[in-house]
Amino acid sequence: MKILIVEDEEKLARFTELELMHEGYETEKVFDGRLGLELAESGRFDLVLLDIMLPGLNGIEVLRRLRKSSDVPVILLTARDSVMDKVSGLDTGADDYITKPFDIEELLARIRAALRKRKADTVSSTLSSGLLTLDDASHTVKYDGNEIELTNREFGLLKKLLENKSIVLSREVLLEDVWGFDYMGETNIVDVYVRYIRSKIDDVYGIKLIQTVRGVGYVIRD
Ligand code: CA
Repeated sequence: MKILIVEDEEKLARFTELELMHEGYETEKVFDGRLGLELAESGRFDLVLLDIMLPGLNGIEVLRRLRKSSDVPVILLTARDSVMDKVSGLDTGADDYITKPFDIEELLARIRAALRKRKADTVSSTLSSGLLTLDDASHTVKYDGNEIELTNREFGLLKKLLENKSIVLSREVLLEDVWGFDYMGETNIVDVYVRYIRSKIDDVYGIKLIQTVRGVGYVIRD
């Protein structure tokens, strides 16, 4: 397993590299966004640790460009604990993020989780409900043959609900499984994403795809 570290705080990058090597990972580190993007796109890495505040090109922009050609797992390293950073990072296609200063054990756990999740994701399948189909392999969602453009996070949320048809999933479960970490507080982010999906599917096709179960969570029923 080879991990790319894109982090301009050299001390932190070196410390992280040593800990990862100690865990048996191969690593490479760069201190600038442009070079980070170039290396991340090379396909030589199994996972990328990406700082947000970087010289050259910031982490969100690196991620945005990287996602055009690569689905390598990315964990964002952020010093800023703002909801906007998290949302824009996750929306842009980050698999997870960790706020600096972080505990190395926590980082290692998230790396393992991201690698596991990616492995599970490669088992492809098609899910459906009524005229709606979700194809994991091609990452497409269609309603009656019409393609619907969803962000990675919206896609993940819809997939999770389709995989558990007729089972009501709580916001906490959705957060843990779709966002992939313990999202302290702010469980209303799930509501925000359900609204996004509804605006792209329900509102357009006049259906009621995701049902709200008051006080419990969300469910898709046929
Ligand atoms: Ca930085």
